[in-house]
Amino acid sequence: MTEMREYRYELHCHCSEISPCGQLPAEELARLYEAAGYDGIVLTDHFRQDILEALPGSSWREKREAFLEPYRRLEEKYRDSGFWIARGAELRFGTNENDFLLFGFADELFLEEGETWPFMELPEFYETYKKEMLIIQAHPNRADSCFPEPIRYLHGIEVKNTCPRHENGNELSRKTAEENPWLIATGGSDCHRPEDVAGSGIACLKPLAGNADLVTILKNGAYRIL
Ligand SMILES: [Zn+2]
Ligand SMILES: [Zn+2]
Repeated sequence: MTEMREYRYELHCHCSEISPCGQLPAEELARLYEAAGYDGIVLTDHFRQDILEALPGSSWREKREAFLEPYRRLEEKYRDSGFWIARGAELRFGTNENDFLLFGFADELFLEEGETWPFMELPEFYETYKKEMLIIQAHPNRADSCFPEPIRYLHGIEVKNTCPRHENGNELSRKTAEENPWLIATGGSDCHRPEDVAGSGIACLKPLAGNADLVTILKNGAYRIL
């Protein structure tokens, strides 16, 4: 009989190459999570109008390559290692400071249409892409910057965000998830600095090998929040 073990994944982290608030280069981020006993990370770098503008290059073709570069580098380095590197994003629209974790979108979709995403609004974005990815509001009750969006435009909410530099309002988010059990509830460290590493994430009984696995596990609720 094989021993049951859990596989741990970080669903919310930032590398310094893309996220200006991040202090950990992609390699260092992955190394710290591996050392902390995690089995993988989903890179969720900020994707906003100002980030898009600041990315090297003038065309979307150049900028999208720059945005994906750290992910591609890590993915290549860790391929076949048993440590899973995945790509998500933390999207913000121009309308307010709410952030949305995007999981499971296809590379082709991002390459073709990603340029427009920060210029959309949540209702339109959700109607357009609800079948193409999971749209999870990050720290919906974070004090002074965020507010909960109507849950009809979301697949889920981040109920545990352990970024130590904010009052994240996790109790309120947890309550919303309990009252609406169909919502996907996630946990994430929102890791920007060494001290943020391995604050939260999810654990499941099967290893994740691709975006489809992540989406399935989140939809089925076959995980626990760390
Ligand atoms: Zn940040
Ligand atoms: Zn974040």
